[in-house]
Order: sequence, then C-alpha cells, then structure tokens
Amino acid sequence: MSEETTEPGRGDAGRGLAGRGAVITGGGRGIGAEVARGLAAEGARVVVSARSEAEIDAVAAELREGGAEAWAVPCDVADPEAVRALHDRAVERLGTVDVLINNAGIASSAPLAAITLDEWQRLFAVNVTGTFLCTRAFVPAMVERGWGRVVNVASIAGRIGAPYISAYAASKHAVVGFTRAIGAEVAARGVTVNAVCPGYVDTPMTDRSIARIVERTGRDAGDTRRFLESASPQKRLMDPEEVAWLTVRLCLPDARGINAQAIVLDGGGVQG
Ligand code: NDP
Repeated sequence: MSEETTEPGRGDAGRGLAGRGAVITGGGRGIGAEVARGLAAEGARVVVSARSEAEIDAVAAELREGGAEAWAVPCDVADPEAVRALHDRAVERLGTVDVLINNAGIASSAPLAAITLDEWQRLFAVNVTGTFLCTRAFVPAMVERGWGRVVNVASIAGRIGAPYISAYAASKHAVVGFTRAIGAEVAARGVTVNAVCPGYVDTPMTDRSIARIVERTGRDAGDTRRFLESASPQKRLMDPEEVAWLTVRLCLPDARGINAQAIVLDGGGVQG
C-alpha cells in the first residue's frame, strides 16, 4: 500500500468516477459541499446546486481550483420548473448525468400540537417532493444507459422516531420508503438507489437546531451541543466528511451490489 492510500480522509480517493457526470443538491455547505469535494476527488464532473448562489459558486470555484470540472446551478428542489431547468442545464454541462445525490433538506422541531400545516408541508416539499422531482428528472436516462447511482441523504430519523421531530421523521421515513421502492424498480437496469442515514452531523443545520433549542429552553448552547453529542454511542457528532465518504463510496462502480438500502451512520445507536 502506498503512503498516500494509508492517509485518512480523502487520501484514499481513486478515480472511480472519472468521466462521470454528477449532480448534487444542497451542495453549497455542510454535508453536500463535502460530498461535492468527494465526488470531484473521484474524478467526477460535478454540478453543485442549492438556492444560495454565492455558496454554490464558492464550492464550484474551489473544485475548479483543485483541477476538477464543476459548475454551480441554482435550484429550489421543491419547485418542479426549477428542477426541470436544473436537469436541462446539468445535461448541457455534463452530457450525461450518471450520479445524483439528493442531499437538499431542511429540519425543524416542535411538539405535535404546535406543528402547523404550513410547516409540515414545507418539510415535505423539500425533503420528499424535492427528492422525488430530482429522481424523476435524472433516473430515466440512467436506466436507458444501463448505469447510474443515486444516493438520498436521509437521516436516522428515517429509521426511528424521537420526540418533537414528527414532521422531519415522517419526511425522512418517506425518503427511505421511496429509496427502497425505486431501488427495487431499477435493480435490473444497472442503477442503484440507496439512502444514507446519519445521526447528528456537525453542520450549519445542527448549529441552527442548537440555536432553536437554546431559544425555546433557555439552555446554554454548549450544554445543548453536549446533550446532542451524548445521544450518540460514540459521544460525538458525525463529521460531514464521514457522511461524504460513505455517500461517495456508494457511487463507485464496485458498490454495484448495494441497492435499496438505508445505511445508518451514527456510531452504532440504530442497529439492524
Ligand atoms: P445544511 O443546512 O448545512 O445544508 C443544507 C443544504 O441544502 C444547503 O446547501 C441548502 O442551501 C440546501 N437546501 C435547503 N433547502 C433547499 C431547497 N429547497 N432547494 C435546494 N437546496 C436546498 O444541512 P446539512 O448539510 O446538515 O444537511 C444535508 C442533508 O443531510 C439534509 O437532507 C439533512 O436533512 C440531512 N441530515 C443532516 C443531519 C445533521 O445533523 N446535520 C443528520 C442527518 C441527516 P440553500 O438553503 O441555499 O438552498
């Protein structure tokens, strides 16, 4: 084994996605930005998408500086017209889209009686309908070509429930159900569809969750963060790099046998 391949993190990247076109939603920060870096490190040409243009521009520019081919294409995944436009612009840039990462997502928490219909629908529009719209836009061409990889970033909230996150958990369970059904539908066509289900990850989304808890309970921010860490068997938040590592590996050619799975990455809390 060479020295480089023993290094942690992205040091073990090969070029398993050389020549492949990849689209990542929610690629402007957090987990999505790390996945974009990981895909580029494997040789993929990458379209980075989200609503905030400045963030996706910065990620795409960073990837280009690193020698990759990358473009920023703004899109709200909850808007069918915007997803159609993302599809057209991605095909224009990449030629073919072989990899789709449905990572765009939002979270909120509230006890049942306080969940408004608007809030319920807002979470479903992004987390569920956004995943459906992007998958419907890109997967049929993968099936026609006989090769494709889709990874949906779900959550452990797609595998188990917990207090005060019923809307988020319902939306992520829907993502897992959708993943399993589409994975079954395309199984014989060279396409795999999987979900990754992380526990709390150290990203801007978790910073916002901590801020919400602080606002509601008056608890100290440091204590709140330690409380979230203590919920994990490893007593820590996951790093976005770890989620990206798993996500990118599911896209590699050798992962062809892994399909319709919802793989948990939480240090061992959710088992089986
Ligand atoms: P961040 O809030 O840090 O990043 C979310 C990304 O999604 C941003 O780029 C955001 O950009 C984009 N996004 C949000 N809404 C839309 C939309 N309507 N259309 C397009 N893009 C959108 O979150 P994380 O990186 O933490 O989360 C990424 C995914 O991982 C989400 O699906 C989340 O549910 C999931 N997850 C996160 C966990 C955590 O603890 N952080 C744990 C488990 C799962 P913009 O707002 O500019 O559109």
